[in-house]
Amino acid sequence: MSEYVKFTYQCVHREVAAFDRLAELNECRRKLCQLHFVGMDSNGIGFGNLSVRDGATGNFYITGSATGALAELTAADCVRVVAYDFEQNWVGYEGSAVPSSESMTHAAIYKSEPTACAVIHCHDSVLWRMLLDRGPTSSKAVPHGTPEMAYEIIRLFAVSDVRSRQIFVMAGHEDGIVVFGRNLEEAFGVLMRARDLPPPPCDAGRQYARAPRQPAE
Ligand SMILES: [Zn+2]
Repeated sequence: MSEYVKFTYQCVHREVAAFDRLAELNECRRKLCQLHFVGMDSNGIGFGNLSVRDGATGNFYITGSATGALAELTAADCVRVVAYDFEQNWVGYEGSAVPSSESMTHAAIYKSEPTACAVIHCHDSVLWRMLLDRGPTSSKAVPHGTPEMAYEIIRLFAVSDVRSRQIFVMAGHEDGIVVFGRNLEEAFGVLMRARDLPPPPCDAGRQYARAPRQPAE
């Protein structure tokens, strides 16, 4: 059992079906690593995860837990999520790695938005503070990697403009940002455009709530 993964996971097959988008995933990941959106924190704990929908199905390939620090991923570092149950806090997958701790988060996006075929969860303190409560933001009370986060994302799709903005901030997960798109390139573009937005007008006195730092991924 991984110390970071909060759901029960069950390997349904040790062999993962051929992941033909691995090169594309690594290419995107390389750029994210260079920008420190994905990588390893000062405690040596990897952060950030990526996924790609498997065709038109509800299944998806996702980077394994504790792979954030790796420069390049092999197929063995990824799993294919083939079933999940938010209520039971359960994920079924193929592969030899442990599915990313954010698998529920990715699943909730694919479930909510049929056109979403790629999801990136990354960390950035500047962007996080800039977007917090100014764009779609998950409740501060909701911890990441939990069924509550999955339900919170479904709620965000119902009540906010996250569908068109393709980005949201996790208030309860310091620096945590999620973007999605029709493919990884599009999701990465959403992130870059958000990063290039001018900073919000100065609002001195605004206190940014510090979410507890939670080692994860
Ligand atoms: Zn994270």
